[in-house]
Amino acid sequence: MPKVDIENSCYAGKILFFDLSTKKSKSIDVSSELALKYLAGDGFGAYFLNKHVSGEVDPFDKENALIIAPGLWVGTTIPTAGKTGFFARAPLTNGWGEGIMGGRIGLAVKQAGYDALIITGKASEPSYLLIDNDEVILKNGEHLWGKNTRECAEMIKKDEKNNDLVVADIGIGGENLVRYAVIDCEERQAGRGGLGAVMGSKLLKAIAVRGDKDIRVKDPEKLEKLTLEWHEKMRNSSAFKDDGYYGTGEFLEWMNAERGTFPTRNWREGVFDERKHIDPYYWAPKYSIKNKACIQCTKPCGKAFVIKE
Ligand code: SF4
Repeated sequence: MPKVDIENSCYAGKILFFDLSTKKSKSIDVSSELALKYLAGDGFGAYFLNKHVSGEVDPFDKENALIIAPGLWVGTTIPTAGKTGFFARAPLTNGWGEGIMGGRIGLAVKQAGYDALIITGKASEPSYLLIDNDEVILKNGEHLWGKNTRECAEMIKKDEKNNDLVVADIGIGGENLVRYAVIDCEERQAGRGGLGAVMGSKLLKAIAVRGDKDIRVKDPEKLEKLTLEWHEKMRNSSAFKDDGYYGTGEFLEWMNAERGTFPTRNWREGVFDERKHIDPYYWAPKYSIKNKACIQCTKPCGKAFVIKE
C-alpha cells in the first residue's frame, strides 16, 4: 500500500476527541492508512460516526457524536474547496446526518492541529467548547443560552478577549431541539438533518476555535500554478457569471421546466408551479445588494439582501 506523507499532504495530523460528560479530551494521530482510505472531510465523518455511534442510538441521546471534519484541501489556495462537514445521527431522519458549510470553522480546526473533532457525551449545563491550539476547555455558557448565533459568537469573542476565535454555534431552534435546526458559522450554515438540535441536546451552544499552525503541501509552487489555471477556467465558464448574479439557484427554471427534477413536496413531485417568487432571476435584481463567498471561493454565490417593501 502506498504511504501518505501526512505532514506535507494538507493534513493537520491529529483527531481530537472531547467528552462533554467528563470534560476530558484525547487525540490520536492520523495514520497513513486512514488518510488513504477515507481522505478527510466526508470520509472521516462517515468512518468515525460508524465506528463510534451505533445505528440504534437516538439522535438526542448523549451517545450520539457530533463530528466536525474539514475537507482535505481546506487551508490551501484551491478554489471552492474550503468546505467543512458536520456529521451525527440526524434528528430529522434518524439516520446519517451530514451538513456542509463554507464558514472558517474548518480552517480554524486545521490550524489548531486537527483533521476532525469528535464530540460525545452531554454537558451538565449550557456550555461552549474552547479550542486554542492544544488547549481544550469546556466553559460555562449559561449567559449565551437564548442568544441568536451572531450575538453568541460576538459574546464569546468578547468574553475571551480574542477576536481571532472562529465560532460555530446554534440559535434558539437548536436549543429547543427543532429537528431541522442548523449550525452557523459566520453566516454559512450546516443546514441538513437538524444537526443544530444535536448540539442543543448536548447543551453545547458553541464551539470556538483558534489555531496558528500551518497547513503544509508538498509542492506549493506547483499548487499555485494549478490554482491560477483553475481560476482562469472558472472565470471563463458561463456558470461563473450566472452564479455571481443569481447564486446557485440560477438553474431553478431549468430544473423545473426542462428536467422536472426540482425537489417539490418532499420529492413527491419534480415541478414547483409556484416557483416564480423563489427564482433568483425574479428576486436578485430586486433585493440583492452584494455577494458573499465561502472561504477559498472566487465564485461567490451567497447573497446579502435588503427588502424595503
Ligand atoms: S460561495 Fe458558492 S460557489 Fe463558492 S464555495 Fe461557497 S457554495 Fe460554492
